Amino acid sequence: MLSDKNHNNLWSATARPAPATHPLQGDATADVVIIGAGYTGLSSALHLAEAGKRAVVLEAKSIGHGGSGRNVGLVNAGMWVMPNDLIKTQGEKWGMTLITALGQGPARVFELAERFGMDCEAIHNGTLHLGVGASGYEELGERARQWQALGAPVERLDKDQTAKLTGTNAPSGALLDKRAGTIQPLGYVRGLAEAALSLGAEIYTVSPVTAAVHEDGLWRISTPGGTVTAPWVIVATNAYTGLVPDFPFASQREELTILPYFQFATQPLPEAMANRILPQRQGCWDTRTVMTSLRMDKAGRLVFGSVGALEPISVGTQRAFARRTLASLFPFLPEITLDHFWHGQIGMTDNALPKFHRYGPNAIGVNGFNGRGIATGTVFGQAMARHIAEGEAMILPETKIGAAPLGRTKTRFYKLGSQMLHFISSRI
Ligand SMILES: Cc1cc2nc3c(=O)[nH]c(=O)nc-3n(C[C@H](O)[C@H](O)[C@H](O)COP(=O)(O)OP(=O)(O)OC[C@H]3O[C@@H](n4cnc5c(N)ncnc54)[C@H](O)[C@@H]3O)c2cc1C
Repeated sequence: MLSDKNHNNLWSATARPAPATHPLQGDATADVVIIGAGYTGLSSALHLAEAGKRAVVLEAKSIGHGGSGRNVGLVNAGMWVMPNDLIKTQGEKWGMTLITALGQGPARVFELAERFGMDCEAIHNGTLHLGVGASGYEELGERARQWQALGAPVERLDKDQTAKLTGTNAPSGALLDKRAGTIQPLGYVRGLAEAALSLGAEIYTVSPVTAAVHEDGLWRISTPGGTVTAPWVIVATNAYTGLVPDFPFASQREELTILPYFQFATQPLPEAMANRILPQRQGCWDTRTVMTSLRMDKAGRLVFGSVGALEPISVGTQRAFARRTLASLFPFLPEITLDHFWHGQIGMTDNALPKFHRYGPNAIGVNGFNGRGIATGTVFGQAMARHIAEGEAMILPETKIGAAPLGRTKTRFYKLGSQMLHFISSRI
């Protein structure tokens, strides 16, 4: 659930309702079965339907139950890895293919949102990567140099320029990426679902996939209520792959380190105050290793996030940390009420890049977006659709599934380590 006794997710409180869907009942056939109704699965469904293919999406819970309904809503271009490192590790061909495809990702998201009239608070006004201290400012300078060499509309801002765009003097500078922007993340994933349905795709919710058999060139994918038989399968379960026991394509779970990330949102701020914070409504995150993020929503709520989970034992610590950080960034804020709070799972990979896998004959998937999945999921969903419908090459080389070195240990470390750090910094 996006909201329960430990979560009151802002995005589910303010998004327009999801299109009506129901569990799969009985046996069906399709050209492609897609497992998971997040950005990746639904972008695949939309683009397959557009190409005249019959796409059936099976979702264990609800549309956007995974990262797609819980994230910050920063529509970023590219991955964390700096462009030069990407070319160094992936080679010129794959490095440039990824840089180009993901660099155009935000434009793809905003174009889809506009073309299908999605109600998702889309603001195509750039994002700000905020520098922390001198080393953060240096890092942003290097990022700016590398992107500018590739012709990207990215610039480093000094401390004063950054203060004007954020309303706080804390950052040492910022990287303004004009390709990027913000959305209401659940609104966007529901918009993708509506668009896919309007083009003829089928979406079944509360339909967890529990078995898969490949026979005579066809996959038979089973849920408790029925089956779908199709020549192709797209696995789009990403960081929520462990959700359903006995999931037949669960092997990718071993290569992901799960990073929990929480957010708190204030009540709508009085207009005069809301206009002092991020007046042009760019969304931000910073250069800290345990990063924090900041954005406003359409109604003027301030949304703050950082690494960690909101469990009964940790929610008080994280809330105190959020309060204290917001008060130090914006001393003019009155006593704030943090009405909304929720967390989600981010799938991290060993090289901070997504992985493209084949799980068997005509069974493909991309996962591990390292906290950059809005544009990336949209782009890879489209790429998989084109691969199936038009025979186009994928934009990422295929890799074998391998276990993440110390993956489970790191997952535990992220949870406990961030909690301790926030405990300490909320008291000093
Ligand atoms: C807190 C947080 C903040 C983030 N911030 C940002 C951000 O600001 N910008 C950005 O670009 N990215 C961000 N991300 C990352 C981004 O949200 C994800 O990369 C993206 O949503 C992944 O989309 P997806 O469709 O691949 O997977 P998901 O949205 O996770 O969808 C996977 C779906 O598969 C379903 N599923 C799992 N198992 C089964 C099964 N057996 N049968 C059927 N269905 C199944 C799940 O229920 C889920 O709905 C953030 C992520 C989190 C968690």
